[in-house]
Amino acid sequence: MSNPITRSAPIHAPMKHFPVENGELVIGGMPISRLAARVGQTPFYAYDRSLLKRRVAELQAALPTPVKLHYAMKANPMPALVCQMASLVDGIDVASGGELKVALDAGADPREISFAGPGKQTGELRQAIAAGILVNVESFREVAELAKISRETGCPARVAVRVNPDFELKSSGMKMGGGPKQFGVDAEQVPELLAELNRAGLAFEGFHLFAGSQNLKPEAIVEAQCKSFELALRLARSAPSSIRFLNLGGGFGIPYFAGEQHLDLAPIGANLASIVERAARDLPEAELVIELGRYLVGEAGIYVTRIIDRKVSRGHTFLVTDGGLHHHLSASGNFGQVIRKNYPIAIGNRMTTEKKETVSVVGPLCTPLDLLADRMELAAAEPGDLVVVFQSGAYGFTASPMAFLGHPDCLEVMV
Ligand SMILES: *Cc1c(COP(=O)(O)O)cnc(C)c1O
Repeated sequence: MSNPITRSAPIHAPMKHFPVENGELVIGGMPISRLAARVGQTPFYAYDRSLLKRRVAELQAALPTPVKLHYAMKANPMPALVCQMASLVDGIDVASGGELKVALDAGADPREISFAGPGKQTGELRQAIAAGILVNVESFREVAELAKISRETGCPARVAVRVNPDFELKSSGMKMGGGPKQFGVDAEQVPELLAELNRAGLAFEGFHLFAGSQNLKPEAIVEAQCKSFELALRLARSAPSSIRFLNLGGGFGIPYFAGEQHLDLAPIGANLASIVERAARDLPEAELVIELGRYLVGEAGIYVTRIIDRKVSRGHTFLVTDGGLHHHLSASGNFGQVIRKNYPIAIGNRMTTEKKETVSVVGPLCTPLDLLADRMELAAAEPGDLVVVFQSGAYGFTASPMAFLGHPDCLEVMV
């Protein structure tokens, strides 16, 4: 006789960072229904300052002190949030002239701002040089442009080289290095680019390596950081001057989907400590940097939308909300996901309701893609209740097609 095979369905990692009081989710010390009243409308995103601070403190405790922490602000460029982050981290990484403006407005020290991204425009490079920030060059064209602008303006450019490594970050949600890529300069072309930089008289400061993002496997991150360091050591032999800046990338992920777990920082911290020791010997002038986006801000944010309608179609219950894909493309599964999976979701004003039901949560758009939860077990809910999408502090508001279908705008608040 064989045993029946029982396979329990994977569940979402618990979202314990927001407390629950009187059956309501509490964010920034305020129950969700009161926060909705304070905001004055739904839908909205809310970001919790205390969680941003806590996350940075946890990282600082887990990583060796000499490693500097940068915030990659494309994850969430809301000005008030960038202001908060600028006061917590050691530097800001920007990826456009527009982001550079926000970082400078937020009070970030220009010496600790770096600028990466393919296709930097002449105007953006001019802004970067005038601001005195570090430019991670990604092509031979950028070297020539920077040299020209420096000559014309009499302002020296500060330059690092973004390297497209000859390896990739394994088991990553998004690979951004290894193989043919539009990012950075292929490792094998770097010696030639460094010679070009030197001929152009540009001040070289170091290397930037970024292998990939959204990784939940510490061993994969450790391997990428080791390989990045080795590659930087090799490339340093062709450098015109000593390495003063070495950005080893990031890629730290957060659990979005059922079955995923919070990242264990301990092995990453231990590995970085050994890299710090080696750097003290082999690259003594180098400041080591890691750059994180979603890991810093993703868990501190929620998206809140109100239930407008409750419909039963051929036995299946749909909760129709006033927000959806147009505000939160990634929660709908349409921001680079191969297979659509549910984000962690709850009915924020019914956190302790015993009665549960399996429903789909859909937005108001006239497309079946506008789906926030596909057959999820949630507290039994009615029109007027508040649907909360967790893990929404990164790649939400600005990564969504707001204008699609002409619905009212979404707001963002810090609490
Ligand atoms: C997008 C990006 C990041 C941030 O990625 P996360 O997954 O949000 O941590 C960091 N560095 C570079 C170069 C990026 O392009």
